[in-house]
Amino acid sequence: MNNLPRLALELPAPTFTGPPCPSCKGKGVTDLRYEWTTERAVLMVDVLCDDCTGCGSADHQGCDTARHAEQDQDDYPDDDTNEEPGCPSCDGRGWHPLQGFTEDTMLTLRMPCGCTEEQLVPAREARTSR
Ligand SMILES: [Zn+2]
Ligand SMILES: [Zn+2]
Ligand SMILES: [Zn+2]
Repeated sequence: MNNLPRLALELPAPTFTGPPCPSCKGKGVTDLRYEWTTERAVLMVDVLCDDCTGCGSADHQGCDTARHAEQDQDDYPDDDTNEEPGCPSCDGRGWHPLQGFTEDTMLTLRMPCGCTEEQLVPAREARTSR
């Protein structure tokens, strides 16, 4: 039963102009991955950094706001000039912020959206250990 493939959604490192977030060193995610078991695979889900909420920037200068766990609606004016069709459920980001829990901590998971299924790659085992 437990021979499901371990998959992960690999996103490129975030870009920004200010200093990197000291907590995640600019990666936007922690070194932990959260195991999320589905019917077909074990997803190794990235855990968003609490301090920068996912963009990797310490001061949010020139950061990629699409990486923030909480989306500001103003970042996405809903008008006809939006040429990227994207995915309606994730705004083309490819993931959703999702609450996850360990024994004593609440985590914000970068849960892959169903539209990224084809982009999931085998998780690198080295990343799963602390
Ligand atoms: Zn951070
Ligand atoms: Zn930011
Ligand atoms: Zn999607």
